[in-house]
Amino acid sequence: MSTVPVPSASAPVPTTPEPSTALPAPTSTPAARARKRRVFWFLAAIVTVHLLVPLAFLPYTFVWWGIPALIIGNFVFGSLGINLGYHRMLTHSAAKFPKPLERLWVLFGVCSMEGSPLWWVCTHRIHHQHSDDEGDPHSPKDHFYWGHMEWIYTADDRRQKLDTYARYVPDLMGDKFLRWLHRGEKWLLVWLAHVVLLTAIGFGAGFLFFDATADAVQFGVQWFLWAVIVRTVYVWHITWLVNSAAHRWGYRNYSTNDGSRNNWLVALLTNGEGWHNNHHAAPRACSQGHRWWEVDLTFTFVRGLQLVGLAWNVAPVKVPKHIATGAKESVPGTEEVPNG
Ligand SMILES: [Zn+2]
Ligand SMILES: [Zn+2]
Repeated sequence: MSTVPVPSASAPVPTTPEPSTALPAPTSTPAARARKRRVFWFLAAIVTVHLLVPLAFLPYTFVWWGIPALIIGNFVFGSLGINLGYHRMLTHSAAKFPKPLERLWVLFGVCSMEGSPLWWVCTHRIHHQHSDDEGDPHSPKDHFYWGHMEWIYTADDRRQKLDTYARYVPDLMGDKFLRWLHRGEKWLLVWLAHVVLLTAIGFGAGFLFFDATADAVQFGVQWFLWAVIVRTVYVWHITWLVNSAAHRWGYRNYSTNDGSRNNWLVALLTNGEGWHNNHHAAPRACSQGHRWWEVDLTFTFVRGLQLVGLAWNVAPVKVPKHIATGAKESVPGTEEVPNG
């Protein structure tokens, strides 16, 4: 997946095209300063959320039920929101669902704080076009950390321009809901609303199940830290691992023209997105596990929906012959470390 992308310094879709130019954007214009401010505040948000994570491991806040809460939260917001909604459905049109379900997947993705759907999809399509080459927004070929998260808080003027969106996401630009989320960073307000709602549920449950106020408050704090903060950071990093680790370490089933790898650990953590060499070989395929043991729980979920008539047009695995049969050589600059 990439992509994993990620939380973003997403900008509103400009209402008027900015001039395309090969020259660096001026740094002193109001627009350039606004971009810098957005990047700064987004970086500040990423750092702040990360700094809250250690609080979940204090004696007052650590709870064993936090682990299953994390696993369930990852499936809902990471697998259904990012893997299925942002990535396979919006980016690659790998399956269709009833409209309410499609909206739900998108909202789950928004709640993962990885940027607006339009920004995410635009970024990921650019990644597929230039994978591990000039123009790839987040290739880890030279630096792991750049591919993992540094690129997120580094201003990239391409995704500030209307013509970039018109070129890479023309099929989604007409969707009013997606445009609404993107303009003025409203997706962040939705994310904030879900934080307030989940926190209220935690404290509400605390006061419902515990007689003592102190116990109820403790439960609310624990819920907030594990169901919101730790889960958000967890989903961020496993998503980013697809861009970083799964472009450096793992085995290759196909001779794609990039450094993509099948990484079993990333696949396990992300419920299927780590079979990334498979994905680059057949980007539209809904299933990313191509061998019987390459488990893809996200696709298993889609198959279940398909069986009850809630998913259709599920794209099959079709790998071009020259990729399927070519030598699976390493791309210069990437490392070949078989891991499974
Ligand atoms: Zn993809
Ligand atoms: Zn990739």
